[in-house]
Amino acid sequence: MDAQTKAELLAAGRVAIDEKLLGQNIVSSAGPGAGKVGFFFNSGGLRVKLGADTKSPLKAIEKDGKICIYKDEKLLACGQIEEELLHCPEQAYINITETCIFDCKFCPVPKLNGRVKSVEKVLDMIEKAHDTGKMKAISITAGVDETVEKEVERAVEVVRKCKRYHVPIGVSVYPTINSNKLLKEAGADEIKYNVETMDRRLYSELCGEQDLDFILDSLSEAVRMFGKNRVCSNFIIGLGENDETVMQGIQELVQRGVVPILRPAASHPLRKGEVNIERPSKERILQLTRFLREELDQAGLDTRLFRTMCLPCTGCDLGPHRDLG
Ligand code: SF4
Repeated sequence: MDAQTKAELLAAGRVAIDEKLLGQNIVSSAGPGAGKVGFFFNSGGLRVKLGADTKSPLKAIEKDGKICIYKDEKLLACGQIEEELLHCPEQAYINITETCIFDCKFCPVPKLNGRVKSVEKVLDMIEKAHDTGKMKAISITAGVDETVEKEVERAVEVVRKCKRYHVPIGVSVYPTINSNKLLKEAGADEIKYNVETMDRRLYSELCGEQDLDFILDSLSEAVRMFGKNRVCSNFIIGLGENDETVMQGIQELVQRGVVPILRPAASHPLRKGEVNIERPSKERILQLTRFLREELDQAGLDTRLFRTMCLPCTGCDLGPHRDLG
């Protein structure tokens, strides 16, 4: 699989596959993909996370001990199904709060009303992941159960108790006035606060209860406290924004020292009618990721230096350095 093929697979997002071929390796997502079944496919050293969907025009079959993905009769890629550790390969990536008081219109989490895991439960999951000998990083994310401050407190407690594993720790939460300070003191290494979109009109339509300027300021502060190549932000592509806004948004984030993660938008049945998702085409993914790569290179930012969360995983996005070469 090369970058072109990965972009094509990401644009489709789903593959028809006999779930028996996945065995134990069925993964269910957190965040905007929550509640769906997927799997990690690795080919030629590149990784992509795909949904399993019998209605997809792409089909995966087993051939000579490999999984081969076809579009019509054309072979796109052959590779292996990859094992997750916790949510993704080689990381214990845990959503500690699977519910949310916010109501971003593209995200099913508030509708799913999932569990709030106790800190003890989270630590137990991390201990079990550590016992496999495969845990290279710990990543913590959270929706918001009662208040954003409480979620930061819970994340801080988990980080503090996980330093003993001596692996990098990343945290992605909604920021608070002192979340950078608290997480830095606790020993977190990397931070992700998601802007979701940099189109301000769309932002107020889709994430109206949140404050984009506060998130941007918190990201800038995180760069000052945690350093360069330690701060990133999910930036969804396909919510109705145009390329010009995306490019301006990339430039604004990069100027702040933040690495944007261009995430193809995914529609969820629980959000039908609330948002117009247009998953980006292969060409759009490639073009915007090339632009992102140039901007990162000029600013001395390198996605390969991140050790936690989505940038080393690359499952859901085309990586500007790891994938695009
Ligand atoms: S890229 Fe991020 S959201 Fe996607 S599977 Fe990897 S860690 Fe999870």
